[in-house]
Amino acid sequence: MRMYLRHPLLSSLGVDHGFGTTGSDLRPTCLTVNQVHGTKIVSSCEYRDCEGAPEGDGMVTGEKEIEVGVWTADCLPVLSSTESGTFVGAFHAGWRGASAGIVPSGLQKISGESRVPVSELVVVLGPAIGPCCYEVGPEVWGAVRLKTPSYTQRAERTLDLWGLVTHQLLLAGVPEENIGCISLCTRCHPELFYSHRGWGKLRGKRSMLNYIRPANDDRH
Ligand SMILES: [Zn+2]
Repeated sequence: MRMYLRHPLLSSLGVDHGFGTTGSDLRPTCLTVNQVHGTKIVSSCEYRDCEGAPEGDGMVTGEKEIEVGVWTADCLPVLSSTESGTFVGAFHAGWRGASAGIVPSGLQKISGESRVPVSELVVVLGPAIGPCCYEVGPEVWGAVRLKTPSYTQRAERTLDLWGLVTHQLLLAGVPEENIGCISLCTRCHPELFYSHRGWGKLRGKRSMLNYIRPANDDRH
């Protein structure tokens, strides 16, 4: 079975996208960066100026023949598009990236390059390790509080990446109705997802690809 999960918020814009599963086929034409748990976002234009894949944790593009993506195996994949579907981005957020604000940074990059305000972006959070399974230490909460002091959770033994990033999106001015979430825990569903924490050594280097490509703007 070859399967990518899709979300109606992006599908309704005519944006081809998918959140990978263990059954997903590879997409050799998808541009990806060398992920380092930072906050750098690379555009498809900047990518071409580099020799080989540059370091970063997200990509944006407005070129409709180009597909951009990020790899995950517990970290949170985030896909975003302008409401017209013509400019898109893919971001990789583990606790380091999420607490450092990679997702709001990524939206700023889309907004800066497309000249569409952040309040007119659509954002979908994909499958990630959930608050049911993501136990974290005090250093994680220290990092979260540094950048997003207004974020709180009932239980601090674990981190809710979906909750943290949604909170940041609302603070950044993304309307609630423009935010979607596929809140499936990667660790709770080994039949669907590779999980760094769940699979351990069995996983090897296998990860899920999460991709997005701008819509054809002919219909607009
Ligand atoms: Zn879980």
